Formats: sequence, C-alpha cells, structure tokens
Amino acid sequence: MKNTKKFFVTTPIYYINDVPHIGHAYATFAADILARYYRQKGDKTFFLTGTDENSQKTVLAAEKARKNIKAYTDSLANKWKDAWKKLGISNDDFIRTTETRHRKVVEEIFKQIDKNGDLYKGKYEGLYCVGHEAFLKEEDLDEKDLCPDHKTKPDYIVEENYFFKLSKYQKPLLKHFKENPDFVQPPERYNEVVKFIEGGLQDISVTRQTQKWGIPAPNDPSQVIYVWFDALINYISADPSKWPADLHIIGKDILRFHAVIWPAMLLSAGYELPKKVFAHGFFTINGQKISKSLGNAIDPIKISEEYGTDALRYFLFKEIPFGNDGDFSSERLREVYNAGLANGLGNLVARVAKLCEKSKVTFKVDRSSLEFKLGETTKYALCLNDLNFQGALEEIWRRYRQLDHYLEKQKPWEIEEKGKLKPVLEYAVSEIIKTNELLKPFLPETAERIAKQFLQKKITSSIALFPRK
Ligand SMILES: [Zn+2]
Repeated sequence: MKNTKKFFVTTPIYYINDVPHIGHAYATFAADILARYYRQKGDKTFFLTGTDENSQKTVLAAEKARKNIKAYTDSLANKWKDAWKKLGISNDDFIRTTETRHRKVVEEIFKQIDKNGDLYKGKYEGLYCVGHEAFLKEEDLDEKDLCPDHKTKPDYIVEENYFFKLSKYQKPLLKHFKENPDFVQPPERYNEVVKFIEGGLQDISVTRQTQKWGIPAPNDPSQVIYVWFDALINYISADPSKWPADLHIIGKDILRFHAVIWPAMLLSAGYELPKKVFAHGFFTINGQKISKSLGNAIDPIKISEEYGTDALRYFLFKEIPFGNDGDFSSERLREVYNAGLANGLGNLVARVAKLCEKSKVTFKVDRSSLEFKLGETTKYALCLNDLNFQGALEEIWRRYRQLDHYLEKQKPWEIEEKGKLKPVLEYAVSEIIKTNELLKPFLPETAERIAKQFLQKKITSSIALFPRK
C-alpha cells in the first residue's frame, strides 16, 4: 500500500539580527528529529525554517553596522544557514521574508483579508517596543516604565494604521479550540490561550505609517505591513502547495501570535488552520535567565565542536521534558554525556564490536530482516506522536540496557565454543541494528557510524563513539 501521509513541520523564522543560540537550536533540533522520523516512515515530509527580515530592528542594526541593508541581510541569512548546516539540520527549505515568493503571498493574503471586510483604517495611539516589534500596554511595563524584557523605554506612537478585525474572530476561534483540544499544546498553554480569547479580543493595527522597511500594503503603499503580520505568512509563502502545516514549533513567548492572531488571519483569508501549535519552554543557564547583559547565551556550535552535535541533541531532549522550562549547565551536560553516551551507548557498542572482532564469527547480514519497522503502535511511535521526546529516548535506552543485561547473563567473553557463541553475538548485533533505526532521528551521525560498523560480514572494533569527558 502506498503511503500517502504527509508531515509539514515548521520552526519560527528567527530574527535575522539575532545570533543563533541554544534556544533557537532547541526548537530547530525538535523539528529536525520529527522531520527525520516522518521521512524514515515514508511520509511526505516538509521541514521549513528561515529568517524574519522585515523588522525595523534590521534597519537599525544595518545602520549601526554602516552597511547597505540588502548586503547586510544577505550576510546574516547566510550565518543562519551555515549554523544549521554545521548542526546537521535537515530542513527542506529556508524562507527569507525579503524574498519575492514571500512578498507575493503576503500581498495576496492581505488583499483577501481586505476583501473579506476585515481591515479598516483607524488611529493608533500607544506604546511600542521596537525590541518586541509589538505594542505594549502600560500594565505590561516594569516599575521604571520600561519594557520588562528589553529594559528599554517604549516609543509613544500616534499614527493612522489599518486595523485587522481580530475581535470578529473571538467566537470562531473558541469554537475551533473546543473542537480541537490538541490545537495548542502542551495543555497548560492551551488553557492559557483559551482564557485569553475568552477575555475578549481587540482589533490590532497591522500596518505602519512611519516605517519604510518592509512589504508595502497593497491597498495603500504609503504604509508597510506590520512585521508580525508578514512574518507569520512565511509558513504558507515558502510553498503554498504544502499548506496546512501539521505542526508549528514555537517558543511560549510567541504563543499569542501563533495561536490567536495567525489562526484568525487564516480564517479571514479562507485558509485551513495548522493542525497543531506546540510551545516549548525557556532556558536558564546555570539557573539564570539568558540575557545579553549577562553575556551568558550558549553557542550551540561551540558545544557541538566539543561534544558533537548528537551529544547536544541527546542532552536537550533527555534532560528537559518538551514543553517545560529547562536549565543548561556545562557540568550537567558532561554528566549526562558520560552516563548515557560514553558509559552507556558508546560502551555497549564498543563491547559488542570487540567481541565480534575477537570471535572471528562472520555475520550474514540481511538488512531487511534486521531492520526494525517504525510501527504505529510501539511506545516509541506513540511518544513521538505526542512530541514526548524524552519518552522516545527512554524507550531507546531501555533497549540498550536490556541488551547490556543479556550480555551480563550470557557472558559471551567466557564462551569458547564457536557454535554457542555465534547465536549470542548474532542476537546482540541484531539488537544494535534494530535499535539503531529508532536512534536515527535523534542521533543521526552516531546512527550512521553504528550502521557502517555493524552492517558488515566481519565486524571490527573502531574508535570510541563517545570518548569520556
Ligand atoms: Zn520589549
């Protein structure tokens, strides 16, 4: 039977003038694990990431760097692309919101929303945080009247803007949430959004009069489209034939944009809604919030150079239940690395390989009989279906521990008779190869090395997968 299933997963598009840090890598690794898993199952998979470039912050940063804005954004977009390449990310596409393909779809959707009667001109008066690219209410400010996140004084803006009738979508959104209890995950985020919508939605300003950088509003080119309104559309503009997305992976700080404004825009423009929005948690570094002033942002590429990208992936998804906040510390990374990878998987693989090498047993490797099918009902599959990465990893490591116990019991190093030794080693090798299929989405480089080593007639030991740190 031909597999006709599809899976379309997105990361947020990242602010182009940010530097890729561990939080970005976290969301992108999560999408990567899922994309690899669904590809392996044979589903038509599309994994999209990209950069958000139409922000006023981009202009300010380019001016500060005394660079032409086009050259500036090109060089920054390449930095993001390089980062993902270095981290082995398997994205199928990379959308930049300065691309023509994006602008075209933004214009189209803007026009459709206008045609549906959901735009009107009004006066906007209020506080605007450039760091957020968002309006703030007075009650959002800290005791010094600064943006609590950016510690900057918001601008006071008075201008004529086009407003989107978000209020009109309160009821349709609530209906959608009721009918689709999985629409926003985890459940506490779902409840948070429902409560917010029930509290009443206000229309939002979706154009800017004074900004020059961005996509001009098709109905009034003296205005540019609000950067968030434009950015969200990337999920369609990259390839409209792929819509709807099955999953948007986002940070919980941008939940309202994705779970309230975005679906309302789609309802207005007559598009299907995404199947699921999953908000992951925040990181602290050694118990402290990541902040520019503390300079404690963690560079995932540096960690990858020291430990390997797979080790970072293992750490992030084993340590932090997806959706929760988590803490990163080098010490904990080393502990988890040594316990699960150096002493765990690495040791097991080295042990079995050495036994095989010493025994001179030859293996008839029939790949098809050894390959473990990624079943729909196995615990592993159920975990990944729920984005329970931790549970799926636990399932893999449970199998490794089981094999460890088996070897302890059989003691193949004490068996001298080749006829008795062979089935024991064959079982061990087949277990490693089967489990390797489950390992692939999580630790792709490691899985490839294991496959190379064990899918041979004569298995030999090789350099350690994870040298002790
Ligand atoms: Zn702010």
